[in-house]
Amino acid sequence: MTEVFSIPLRTRFRGITVREGMLLRGDAGWGEFSPFLEYDAATSAGWLACAREAADLGWPAPVRDSVPVNVTVPACPPDEAVAIVRRSQGCRTAKVKVAERGQSVAEDQARLEAVREAIGPAGLVRVDANGGWSVDEAITRIPLLDRAAGGLEYVEQPCAEVEELAVVHRRVGVPIAADESIRRAVDPYRVRDLAAADIAVLKVQPLGGVRACLRIAEDIGLPVVVSSAVESSIGIAAGVALAAALPSLEHACGLATVQLLTDDVVADPLLPVDGALPVRRPEVDDAALGRVVAPPDRVAHWRARLADVEAVLEDRRS
Ligand SMILES: [Mg+2]
Repeated sequence: MTEVFSIPLRTRFRGITVREGMLLRGDAGWGEFSPFLEYDAATSAGWLACAREAADLGWPAPVRDSVPVNVTVPACPPDEAVAIVRRSQGCRTAKVKVAERGQSVAEDQARLEAVREAIGPAGLVRVDANGGWSVDEAITRIPLLDRAAGGLEYVEQPCAEVEELAVVHRRVGVPIAADESIRRAVDPYRVRDLAAADIAVLKVQPLGGVRACLRIAEDIGLPVVVSSAVESSIGIAAGVALAAALPSLEHACGLATVQLLTDDVVADPLLPVDGALPVRRPEVDDAALGRVVAPPDRVAHWRARLADVEAVLEDRRS
């Protein structure tokens, strides 16, 4: 059985205003298949493997019953940043977007000062540049942002290329996290081999599911931060399952993103309580699904897409 959902976002994210995806039902429960619309079938194969694992196999046993999460602050004005941190349900870590195209370092600094003020001296502040800086920009800007934030936990993906990350890692004192250099790389282990980062950000859908991510975590030998691709609570549950099964979890995860959506496909969304997500697996709720079910043309689009990506997965298995 499959369903297709279409849920408006509260604010624009990666240039989209609506999150679409497909839900697959198997013997083990519901899985979410929601590669972004521009991804081709080959790029989407990991996403389908993740959904199939959820639907057909289920996940390894958890070793913890809650997962600390960060609040995500977009590249917004300081007053908005403060409001987002204040209504974050007790999150003690804030992840702040920086290096947004068209914005200045001063804007990043002002946002970070505001976030530090809002989260307090004991809170942790991390930034994500999404590969937006050159090596020189990263080397000059990271210390400025570190000062503005009153100390940074880490900088995520300061530059686009893993070789650049390695240079920045050697030149700045703030820890470096690799995200795109793992999930979009042909070889995620270049991050390890080049000593390019201190922390690995893992996303279950692009990387092929919970078991695939557990293997990467073990082989890459770095502390892991599990992050979402802004899924519904069905997809978020897979990220929670990974975070719950990791032998050690030293950092808050980026899984508190259900609140970026205006609705959900479950009756009891995976929202943070006291700064953490409970380790549980919500069920698709008929009434909730009824509110967000996609129109017939989009259902047809996703069915065709599923068939294409299934063919890619079949090819890889044979
Ligand atoms: Mg990132």
